[in-house]
Amino acid sequence: MPHDSTIPVSDLIRSRVRDVPDFPKPGIVFKDITPLLGDREAFGAAVRQLTEPFRDAGVDRVLGLEARGFIFGAPVALALGAGFVPARKPGKLPSETLGQAYDLEYGTATVEIHSDAIPRGGRVLVVDDVLATGGTGRAAVDLVRRAGGTVVGFSVLMELSVLAGREKLSDVELHTLLSV
Ligand code: AMP
Repeated sequence: MPHDSTIPVSDLIRSRVRDVPDFPKPGIVFKDITPLLGDREAFGAAVRQLTEPFRDAGVDRVLGLEARGFIFGAPVALALGAGFVPARKPGKLPSETLGQAYDLEYGTATVEIHSDAIPRGGRVLVVDDVLATGGTGRAAVDLVRRAGGTVVGFSVLMELSVLAGREKLSDVELHTLLSV
């Protein structure tokens, strides 16, 4: 059903993100984007808004972070006339990889891309669904730079402002659709 066009797009997007308390573990409020994905108007609006500020930024590649960054990053790439680069958890990419480790609350995690995924000097937009502590985004930005690319921005659906992830990305043009 088409939504009431008097409702601001940000409210439409916000209304399609479901809070799931205590998932995947107690104390975490998981931001479930599946209602948004199922609503073509809200999904389309989200992709358009993630894309908009970077239309004229000469983006060569959109890098999407596994896994929900793939869902948003791929249509953003097509909208920008750019290619898509999946950034994956270790051991998933079949060819030679470049990895970047980052700290979690307990332990570390790593993101990987294929070593040849970014052309030298290529202009890269990073896309994800949620910016929480900023560790994943920071690692992605560092990885792109180590691979020889230029980060033109980081476009993310939702920022969990209490976790102050944007402080870790102060050297990047950060675009968030919602701050919650
Ligand atoms: P961080 O590295 O802390 O910024 O976490 C960002 C990554 O974890 C993103 O790829 C998100 O998809 C995921 N994430 C972190 N917190 C949440 C949350 N509350 N709900 C959904 N996804 C989350």
